[in-house]
Amino acid sequence: MYSGSCECKSVRYQFQGEPLTCYACHCTDCQTSSGSAFGLSMIVNDKDVEVTEGDISVNTIDTNGIKVQKHYCAQCGTSFWFSADEYPGIMALKPGTFDDTSWFKPIAHLWVRSAQSWVMLDKFTPQYEKQPEISELIDLWAKKKNA
Ligand SMILES: [Zn+2]
Ligand SMILES: [Zn+2]
Repeated sequence: MYSGSCECKSVRYQFQGEPLTCYACHCTDCQTSSGSAFGLSMIVNDKDVEVTEGDISVNTIDTNGIKVQKHYCAQCGTSFWFSADEYPGIMALKPGTFDDTSWFKPIAHLWVRSAQSWVMLDKFTPQYEKQPEISELIDLWAKKKNA
């Protein structure tokens, strides 16, 4: 079981289960949304996540052409996860919100064609110019886990 929180600590959540995959995305939407050089996403089954404290707000935004629900702390605005009707049952959790961030590592870098020039990527982690199929990222994660 993993627990997480936002910057103001008013929301707490628990994740019970295993991630389906975890990747870093360097697309310009993720750069804007995170206010940083890239976004980290962990794909999880939404039934494995439970909010135990605090209020979460939801906004619908248009990102990369699909309608996405952004779930964030009503107090401080920290993003927790994104869901979309196109992907029922799963969501993209922002794993930087875990209390302990030492147990996961992204298995791929996406949209490296828009990565900021100073970001150094190790050559052992697969890189994609654009968006690969989600099934490919799930396979990579499973292979890494069993390696
Ligand atoms: Zn908060
Ligand atoms: Zn992205």
